[in-house]
Amino acid sequence: MSLVEVLTPARRPLRRHVAIGDVVFGGAAVPVIAGPCSVEPNYVAHAEAVRGAGARVLRGSIFKPRTRPDSFQGMGSPGLDLLAAARAATGAPVVVEPLAVEHIALLRGRADALMIGARSMQNTPLLRAAGRSGLPVIIKRGMAATYDEWLGACDYVLEEGNDQVILCERGIRTFESATRNTLDVSAVPVLRERTGLPVIVDPSHAAGRTEWVPSLALAAVAAGADGLLVEAHPSPAASWSDPDQAVTPATLAAIIRTTTVLAGVLRPVVATGLTEQRQVIDGIDAGLGALLEERARVVAEIKAEKRRRALPAHDPDREAAVAAHVAAHAPAIPPAAIAEVMTVVIAACQRATTSQTADETLEVRELAC
Ligand code: PEP
Ligand code: MN
Repeated sequence: MSLVEVLTPARRPLRRHVAIGDVVFGGAAVPVIAGPCSVEPNYVAHAEAVRGAGARVLRGSIFKPRTRPDSFQGMGSPGLDLLAAARAATGAPVVVEPLAVEHIALLRGRADALMIGARSMQNTPLLRAAGRSGLPVIIKRGMAATYDEWLGACDYVLEEGNDQVILCERGIRTFESATRNTLDVSAVPVLRERTGLPVIVDPSHAAGRTEWVPSLALAAVAAGADGLLVEAHPSPAASWSDPDQAVTPATLAAIIRTTTVLAGVLRPVVATGLTEQRQVIDGIDAGLGALLEERARVVAEIKAEKRRRALPAHDPDREAAVAAHVAAHAPAIPPAAIAEVMTVVIAACQRATTSQTADETLEVRELAC
């Protein structure tokens, strides 16, 4: 049985795709929504930084549901101009969390999707109003909500005739206190199967600590998540809210790169139409590119080690063994074709590890002969 056949049940194509602006959730790609926890005066620069890191959609929280009334409550309506400026500067759609029904009218034309926060998941008038808005709605899981309660919240939006719903797992309350919440990765395969709706994951509010966010993001995508919601800030410690869990744009870029590679390997091969088929290929090729680069890095280490031990750089037996090893992992491809590919891969890795010194250039010429 091929890798893909084993994985397909958990990653079967969804019945419903949800688009935020032109970014599709539930298809072959795994888009990332990112931005600071709350919109701050420098939001446009923050948005440009996350966009530069590869985020496709912006977080634009101007109303913040804070535990204590003396904490920063968000910029409120003065933040609307910043949302417009960030959208214009980046061309990316923006997701905003309304805390009250009247916020939804205020957001008309200024938000590309609404996010119902964990604390609001059972605010039924808000859910109904979000449903009537006609905008896509991301429903975060309440911190102590069962799957059924979460799906009940979804039904309030669906009943208003709005099927553009995305579920977002963000961690639940458990007895564990080391993390802010406990990420329930099971929610991803279970709810994808039960609803046919895209399920995304917010690793930031689950972890509560910057260092743990990348691992949870990878776990989510490995489980089949259709997207991520990540808090990122150019100076995490200076964030006006949730500074402990914000990642830098560089870490965000690494998360996006690694999850793209992972998704390339794990997403379903069942793609409908050329656009989606090409997305699948792009994902796989992103994985190939990243793996090649990693391979070249290890080849450089091996070269240095061989030099230290005065061993020959070129080892035909080892190269034949490498080709056989790869062929064993790709039984559907003729071994002769794999051998050809690996000859080129080995040469490419050798070239990548060669610095521009005259000696090394000579060495490559010798190898090529
Ligand atoms: C948020 O994403 O801004 C937020 C407040 O998260 P949650 O509702 O999951 O606590
Ligand atoms: Mn936050």
